[in-house]
Amino acid sequence: MMEKLSAEEFDFNFERVLERLNTAAERSGRNIGDITLLAATKTVDADTINYAIEKGITHIGENRVQELLSKHSLLKPAHSHFIGHLQTNKVKDIIDKVEMIESVDSLRLANEISKQALKNGTEMDILLEVNIGGEESKSGFSPNELENAVEEITKLPAIRVKGLMAIPPATDSPEESRKYFRKMYKLFIDIRDKKIDNSNMSVLSMGMSNDFDIAAEEGATLVRVGTSLFGRRIYK
Ligand SMILES: *Cc1c(COP(=O)(O)O)cnc(C)c1O
Repeated sequence: MMEKLSAEEFDFNFERVLERLNTAAERSGRNIGDITLLAATKTVDADTINYAIEKGITHIGENRVQELLSKHSLLKPAHSHFIGHLQTNKVKDIIDKVEMIESVDSLRLANEISKQALKNGTEMDILLEVNIGGEESKSGFSPNELENAVEEITKLPAIRVKGLMAIPPATDSPEESRKYFRKMYKLFIDIRDKKIDNSNMSVLSMGMSNDFDIAAEEGATLVRVGTSLFGRRIYK
């Protein structure tokens, strides 16, 4: 759980986050309108999330199915993404509750999403998660298998491949993430320019509280920010 955040604290944090994003956009000659801020809301209570939405947060992301389900019906309208590891047997629980699944890390998962979306009479937007640091402990496609994965997944009937997502290795300083963000941007552009049938590569989701400004400088179109907006998470 999180210690309850005051409205003033959120306002202050939100302002700083927007400043960091603006500065990053200016430094890299990007348009701030091309970078979406997604609030990562794990451990944050529904009232606080609703306050954030009232204040202008448009996109929210949960990384655990149970937590998403427990808050979903309490929240004001917002673009809702799933951003955490998703087990195939949980896909059916969230298929009608999110508009994008950012963390698709296997063909098996993509298959199940397509199946459940079809059942639900919808299509699901997805991002493919890339294990950009080649870490054993992390899931995601390796850069080598990415193109093939996009080709396979775009053949599925009820899925729209919208882009890529990555969580680079933890580093001592945010600046060390830059090389991973550059690699991701290059992968994104390469695969986008291949114009694979039925793909529409427009979203590059990367950057968290420590390094979202660097990710923005390196081409992120969506940054996922938790701690910098809501304060430090305290798990009980
Ligand atoms: C929690 C989380 C974030 C945000 O992390 P912070 O460091 O708190 O900003 C971003 N992406 C994913 C997938 C997360 O689970």
